[in-house]
Amino acid sequence: MSEGKLIVITGPSGVGKGTLVRSLLQKYPDLYFSISATTRSPREGEIHGKDYFFLSIEEFKQKIEGGEFLEWAQYASNYYGTPRQNIETQINQGKTVILEIEVIGANLIKESFPSALRIFILPPSLEELEKRLKERNTDTEAVIIKRLNRAKEELMFRDQFDVKIVNDDLEIAFELLEKAIFK
Ligand code: 5GP
Repeated sequence: MSEGKLIVITGPSGVGKGTLVRSLLQKYPDLYFSISATTRSPREGEIHGKDYFFLSIEEFKQKIEGGEFLEWAQYASNYYGTPRQNIETQINQGKTVILEIEVIGANLIKESFPSALRIFILPPSLEELEKRLKERNTDTEAVIIKRLNRAKEELMFRDQFDVKIVNDDLEIAFELLEKAIFK
């Protein structure tokens, strides 16, 4: 059996990467989506083991020390990390694995997993990103400001990625994503 591949999808919060990934998983059920761990509190409707593994800071730090993450990063005062074990198992079984993570962790993947395809989703503009974060209605004003400031830093890394896709029109962005993954 041939080895699977690792696809890393990143971009600022609110850019629509979650929507793109959901469409991808719906259309291609054979893809394996990696569920991350986080110390952030669950949002309404989020389920432990489905959306994230919600951990305490102590539990998360233990896993860092145990080398259990392929990558991890701090984001808007919380920790987020990709559990290593499932990913390696799935890839060895020939599966294509999808990670949806923030930019610093996505950039680090090239060290632990050089063959990964790393895709950066860009907003049409910062103004549009702010509008989407506000419309999404999942975060407080203070958190939105943190996320926007972080977005400005994240956008500076865009040229270090293999593929860049502007999410202006969702359908076009999805087609470009499909092409990048299945070309
Ligand atoms: P949210 O709190 O909105 O669910 O996620 C905040 C950010 O953390 C998003 O950009 C999301 O893609 C990213 N993220 C989710 N899981 C991981 C992970 O395992 N590692 C890293 N580095 N970022 C993650």
